Amino acid sequence: MLELFLNKPKQMELRSMEALPALKDDEVKIRLVYGGICGSDLSVFLGKLTHASYPLRPGHELLGHIIEAGKNVPYELGTRIIVQPNSYCGECVNCLNGQTNICPEKKSLGVTVNGGFSEQFIISSKYVMPVPDDLPDERAVLVEPFAVIVHAFKKVHITKGTTVAVLGCGNEGMLAVALAHYLGADVTAMDINPIKLELIKTLGDIRVIHPDELKGETFDIVVEAAGAQSAFENGLRLVRPGGQMILIGLTPEATIPVIRVVRSEITLYGSIIYNIPDDFQHAMEYLRDTNFNVQPIVSKIIPFTDYKHAFEDALSGNYGKVLLDFKKNPV
Ligand SMILES: [Zn+2]
Ligand SMILES: [Zn+2]
Repeated sequence: MLELFLNKPKQMELRSMEALPALKDDEVKIRLVYGGICGSDLSVFLGKLTHASYPLRPGHELLGHIIEAGKNVPYELGTRIIVQPNSYCGECVNCLNGQTNICPEKKSLGVTVNGGFSEQFIISSKYVMPVPDDLPDERAVLVEPFAVIVHAFKKVHITKGTTVAVLGCGNEGMLAVALAHYLGADVTAMDINPIKLELIKTLGDIRVIHPDELKGETFDIVVEAAGAQSAFENGLRLVRPGGQMILIGLTPEATIPVIRVVRSEITLYGSIIYNIPDDFQHAMEYLRDTNFNVQPIVSKIIPFTDYKHAFEDALSGNYGKVLLDFKKNPV
């Protein structure tokens, strides 16, 4: 059996895995189907995520089947599952409040602990969720990254005619564009990459634009998904008085014109990952609706043994989600 492994930033290898240990009572063994490459996997790969710990097996967008289960596991063998890749204690004030996403004990697969880019791995059944039969693999693997957007959008009210600007059309930005469009918003998608903007157009009737081309226009809701200081600062200027800005990009620092925020009553929302099970369940409900167009977001499916090309493509910024296919290699 094989796994992808990062000895340190930029040094990824495909290697044989050590034999997996015996399962604990609550654990399942998963045989992976797809692993999605996320922006944070790229940051971990490049060494740009300061809280990542190496050596590390990357990967947290994981779809697979249960092939072995401990005696307290409530699922049948063969169940198709997605993984919730962020742990939580369940006992702190945040967890008791339903905000498992900001648990101080949170550990993140593929960032602070070994992730799942391997043919098989073991995880507590607490962190897996069965996938409904009518959700194809290529949509099911989007549940985790899409739950980030579902969670973020719960902070605001987006309906027919709401003007929404999305800054930065990486995977999360594209999913935000898709959901805002599905909810009936007038969506403006911004990215500095013209190839990405062409791809966005295939999601539906969406206005696409280079951020420098906007002059004096404002929006009800601005979604910052670029994770860059300039995007945050430009984005804040694009919020109409009384409007709202949702921050999902991980910009370390930026300047805030406080007087404009105060005088124009602008609301800023920080949003990190999701709360389970709710945000995962709601993400699944959207994805089960075939009218919800996310087709162009899954741009490439590449055998995991060809991981170099997969990471190159993902790093190019020219594509939507790049999936690693773990099915094709005989175990
Ligand atoms: Zn992700
Ligand atoms: Zn907690």
